[in-house]
Amino acid sequence: MATTSLSRRSFVRVAGLAGGLAALGAPRATAAADGAEQPPADGHEALRRLLAGNLRWARGHARHPHQSGRRRRDVAGGQAPYAVVFSCIDSRVPPELVFDCGLGDLFVVRTGAHALDDVTLGSVEYGPAATGTPLALVLGHERCGAVHAAIEPIERHGGAAPGHIGAIVRALEPAYRAAKDRPGDLEDNMVRAQTELTVARLRGSSLLRNTLVVGGRYDLDTGRVDLLP
Ligand SMILES: [Zn+2]
Repeated sequence: MATTSLSRRSFVRVAGLAGGLAALGAPRATAAADGAEQPPADGHEALRRLLAGNLRWARGHARHPHQSGRRRRDVAGGQAPYAVVFSCIDSRVPPELVFDCGLGDLFVVRTGAHALDDVTLGSVEYGPAATGTPLALVLGHERCGAVHAAIEPIERHGGAAPGHIGAIVRALEPAYRAAKDRPGDLEDNMVRAQTELTVARLRGSSLLRNTLVVGGRYDLDTGRVDLLP
């Protein structure tokens, strides 16, 4: 899929967030050093790069790239990450580790069970809109605690939960409805449904129309990420 980024100026015009963009760091078109590869030509190449890093991680051959002082200095003045990863807050699924990458490689957005609201959607849109990030990966994972915790409130308490956790529970209700009649394990089906629904919603964003949006599932036991069909 071809990628056509919005210029920084046009993004500012669209979003009216000039100050915020400056705080996040000006986009930069070229990759930095520390053994850096050329920027991926498109979302498919970015996806291959992500999955290659995941394979190194899963096989115990992680290189931990882009974590040197040199890399830190190279990206201090600007960033051009090649992917957005939208994933769960789970402590066992840190994207920079499971995709074996480092500073300046990823925009990372994380919420409980990758629940999506307007703030998180805007956060996912930022990279593609401002720096032409060609790929957005929605990453669910095995044995998601947030999904597990949401089922009882949905089934027995009308979605009510303490504090602001109820917002996550309510955000997961569509995934519950999509998953409850599927054969197999309800929790795992909910993780997959939540990922699928999130991918569909991202694909509906006008700012992501030139971005490859895919969903995946991380296996806690093997360390592997499998793309969802
Ligand atoms: Zn989770």
